[in-house]
Amino acid sequence: MINMALPKTEKQIRKGTPQVGNPPFKQIHAHSTGNPDSTAQNEADFMQTKDLTTGFYTHVVGNGRVIQVAPVNQGCWDVGGDWNSDGYASIELIESHKTRAEFEKDYKNYIDLLRKAAKNAGVAIKVDSGETGILSHNYCSLNQPNSKSDHVDPYPYLAKWGISQAQFKKDVESGQVGNGNNQPRQIAVDGQWGSDCTKRLQEYFGTKPIDGVISGQIKTRANENVYAAEWGTGGSNVVRAIQKQLGLAQDGNIGPGTVKAMQKHYGTTQDGIISPISDMVKEMQKALNNDQF
Ligand SMILES: [Zn+2]
Repeated sequence: MINMALPKTEKQIRKGTPQVGNPPFKQIHAHSTGNPDSTAQNEADFMQTKDLTTGFYTHVVGNGRVIQVAPVNQGCWDVGGDWNSDGYASIELIESHKTRAEFEKDYKNYIDLLRKAAKNAGVAIKVDSGETGILSHNYCSLNQPNSKSDHVDPYPYLAKWGISQAQFKKDVESGQVGNGNNQPRQIAVDGQWGSDCTKRLQEYFGTKPIDGVISGQIKTRANENVYAAEWGTGGSNVVRAIQKQLGLAQDGNIGPGTVKAMQKHYGTTQDGIISPISDMVKEMQKALNNDQF
């Protein structure tokens, strides 16, 4: 079975959240809310009005949703010590799950989001291991300078569902959750946008048909090395999904603007042209192998 993609992040960002500390922000903090009743929406609503000096975080995961409540990459008041100033993202898991199915869905999203945040921050996907990477609040309480925190989350809550600290570490670092048969289908990281890469994109975005073909393309220097392209007009549904994700006009055609935006997204050279062996395509293939775009 293929992993479902991480749900689209809903943004309900509190205005005026302060920057805490200075770049680089090289930690991702893993929390759980400590509230046995609150939904993700309750938590996001609370963030809109609460006194921020008593603490804030960047994302809450729950009820099948991911809600971003503060900007990333500027620290948070969330771990009660000097490592407040190191947080790229601080992610809360709700504690109000009533069934194992509800928990497992959110647990998987929590892990995916922690991994994605680490990737975006440019730090290794390692849990509770030194001063960079993904750190539980528990680890911060025990190891940060000037710690005034005795919080041990998210471990007691995870333990309630049978997830030990070691299992959490394994799940986050491997990117596989549970019995391991839900790893995303792996594709070659060869920098060539061919049929298999296209199929994986179609699976990831859930567009139809899943045929490995980028249809309806107007041939230009931008896309002439897209090996899965079919020349014509009308555009491709999966390209429209990519354009939507990147906030572009959705004409379904891989033109120079779309290529540049993809290159920007993946941090590769922005020349608006896909090379025969493309660094941008390589980064995209790596992301897809982590069930991300
Ligand atoms: Zn916490």
